[in-house]
Amino acid sequence: MVVIVGLFIAFVLVAIFARRGVRGCRWRMDRTRDRDGLQYFRCAACGAEELVPKGKSPQDCRAPRKPPKP
Ligand SMILES: [Zn+2]
Repeated sequence: MVVIVGLFIAFVLVAIFARRGVRGCRWRMDRTRDRDGLQYFRCAACGAEELVPKGKSPQDCRAPRKPPKP
């Protein structure tokens, strides 16, 4: 029983870390570039830019994916 609980906890932790990998962007707000009621965010990690409605923040990482193998 303890083993099953341990495996379950390990699975949950892996799932959490896998999602964090997807959300790898570190968004920084830049109010000077807001426009049309949208807030401007720029990712400090990969340089991605995004405009989102006020009060929200970007959820996804826009980091470029590895190019497909030739
Ligand atoms: Zn990013």
